[in-house]
Amino acid sequence: MAKSSVLGYPRIGADREWKKALEAYWAGKLEETEFRQKLQDIRLTHLRKQQEKGIDIIPVNDFSYYDHILDTAAMFGIVPKRFSYTGGAVPLSLYYGIARGTKDAAASEMTKWFNTNYHYIVPELDGATPDVTENKPLIAYREAKEKLGIEGKPVIVGPLTFLKLSKGYQASETDAWLGRLIPLYIQILQELASEGVQWVQIDEPIVVTKLSEEDYGRLRTIYESFAAAVPSLNIMLQTYFESAESYETIVKLPVQGIGLDFVHGRTSNLASIAALGFPADKVLGAGIIDGRGIWKASLQEKLGLLEQLTSFVKADRLIIQSSCSLLHVPVTTANESKLLPELRGALAFADEKLDELVLLTKAVEFGEATIAEELKQCESALQALRTSSTRNRSDVQQAVAALSAQQPRRSTAFEERHAAQQNKWQLPIFPTTTIGSFPQSAEVRKARQSWRKGEWNNEQYEGFIREQIDLWIKLQEDIGLDVLVHGEFERTDMVEFFGEKLAGFAFTQYGWVQSYGSRCVKPPVIFGDVAFEEAMTVEETKYAQSKTKRPVKGMLTGPITIMNWSFVRDDIAREQIAYQLAYALRQEVEALEAAGIGMIQVDEPAVREGLPLKKDEQAAYLEWAVKAFRMTTCTVQDTTQIHTHMCYCEFHDMIDSIEAMDADVISIETSRSHGELIHSFELNTYKLGIGLGVYDIHSPRVPQVEEMTSMIDRALRVLDPKLFWINPDCGLKTRGTEETVAALRNMVEATLIARKNY
Ligand code: GLN
Ligand code: ZN
Repeated sequence: MAKSSVLGYPRIGADREWKKALEAYWAGKLEETEFRQKLQDIRLTHLRKQQEKGIDIIPVNDFSYYDHILDTAAMFGIVPKRFSYTGGAVPLSLYYGIARGTKDAAASEMTKWFNTNYHYIVPELDGATPDVTENKPLIAYREAKEKLGIEGKPVIVGPLTFLKLSKGYQASETDAWLGRLIPLYIQILQELASEGVQWVQIDEPIVVTKLSEEDYGRLRTIYESFAAAVPSLNIMLQTYFESAESYETIVKLPVQGIGLDFVHGRTSNLASIAALGFPADKVLGAGIIDGRGIWKASLQEKLGLLEQLTSFVKADRLIIQSSCSLLHVPVTTANESKLLPELRGALAFADEKLDELVLLTKAVEFGEATIAEELKQCESALQALRTSSTRNRSDVQQAVAALSAQQPRRSTAFEERHAAQQNKWQLPIFPTTTIGSFPQSAEVRKARQSWRKGEWNNEQYEGFIREQIDLWIKLQEDIGLDVLVHGEFERTDMVEFFGEKLAGFAFTQYGWVQSYGSRCVKPPVIFGDVAFEEAMTVEETKYAQSKTKRPVKGMLTGPITIMNWSFVRDDIAREQIAYQLAYALRQEVEALEAAGIGMIQVDEPAVREGLPLKKDEQAAYLEWAVKAFRMTTCTVQDTTQIHTHMCYCEFHDMIDSIEAMDADVISIETSRSHGELIHSFELNTYKLGIGLGVYDIHSPRVPQVEEMTSMIDRALRVLDPKLFWINPDCGLKTRGTEETVAALRNMVEATLIARKNY
């Protein structure tokens, strides 16, 4: 009989109970025992839900007190040196110390989990003497069995993935580290086997990325050692987020099950199975329900896929499951009461995906007819959204088709524009500016809330925003900045602000997903054709410009960033969504220009987030991402200066694409990349205007003039002084007013020194 399973369930709870409990505990409002009790309640609720829905193989140990990679490190006693840990079980205080820092030791680095917006804590191996400190999967298994009678499937991060995601060792030490880890994994697995565990899911998503022959050798060593030491245990070697790079190697490993992603790696995984077959002695974990998207699956279409699969694998060797952990989607659509009915009806969050899996499994077991009613309902829900007027704006579709058929470009080359802009603006050498936002003080946040709640009318709120603009225009002039901004006081979030004003977006009430630790995000949903409705930023920008003779830069979020930080529809290509956004934003750019704004910044901090995992798909993505940016910005006059901004410092390998965006000026984060970025610009001789962030805005510390002077000197050894700008690393909205003013004054002073020495 086919079985249903999921690879993991969201931790946060339908009302973010998990987040609230963590934060209450950190704030000292919950005692440790109470806290542990609360988390257990949450965990059991999630297990019970899966049980009641009828999932056959329920994951355990997917739950975490913070992050599953940190859990794995803690389970093996891998604690960064600076925490002076001496072995044994890792207490909660230490666990959270590693994640969040203590007063004596900095937190561990956090980084993106593959191509998702989830961030994990990077394990630091140097100096660690790994040992099993507790068998967390076993504890989770026992709990589920004792409390709920669930025969759980412990989920464990595999050794190769764990090692590849860790730092603090040389490549030459890889095998030595594997040699240390394998026996510890074996100990964990043996204890699970003697407890009677049937299936263990070992996650090795690293196999969807490019690995060396040596790495494949390591993979064999790992799983051959497991097979030899714990022959009675069924191991599901789980891959996700893409197709396995080397299907032929993976299927030959001595494990009992292979889990493949038939959503994100569908074509290539299917092609591999068709070409090479699937081993008759293994179980296929068929990841057919999208663990990352929020849309209802077409059951009909999934049945077609399952039919294809059952021509290679017998149904009783099939586990029908989510493509990856459901960690990446919100919990349930049940409490959403404000969405358009055709949208709500077409959504499936984690709980609804459980239903889909159960239905599909039933259909495979007992025939399609047994779910006939559900099939009909599903298709009509999908049909309702498909035919909704929001998805069928022929005005947008025609305009975008016409525009994207051309190569968008400014009417003249950079050199000519640059001369025209210099002539118009007469900026001093090394112009100074900021990235857009100024401190969102408690007062600003309160004002926005009062207005949202209806306690303040529009007039009151707009008056308040104008006062803030007045204040900051004066401050910026007084500090001596050359290019000013209005400060973004009217925006909570750089994506939400535009999403609320453009057509085609919806906002859920409870659609939260974990981003890192207790931090959750509620991405907007791009469900329809995106369209410009009315000017979004012109009023505030124009007002700011009316208060000063210096240029005020307009401030927009770019198409790729809006797309990458939203949940997007899956009926058209992401490329098309990007072009729709570009077309809408271009109308805003034109409106700003028409209102007399001569410098316009289009922020694209999230370009990298959409980069495909597969190397051979990256160039195509970058090409259309660049095109969308150019489409947004190309219609302005030569004298209108287009700026862009990128942060998160991981742009070394993208400089050609950044240059191809053809922005007159880019401001980029550098202070945290320790000069690496400057070095890559050195190798690439970037030819457009560029402002390197001269101080880190993530800390309240006011940087000294000398620190910034040395950053500037270093950059000027590489970059053309005539194209060089001076600015902070990123927006200042999270900073306090006093420290911001002090830091900017120092920045201007450093600039004056640089000008004198030039
Ligand atoms: N203009 C935005 C701001 O200053 C840019 C934010 C970002 O790059 N993340 O807040
Ligand atoms: Zn930034």
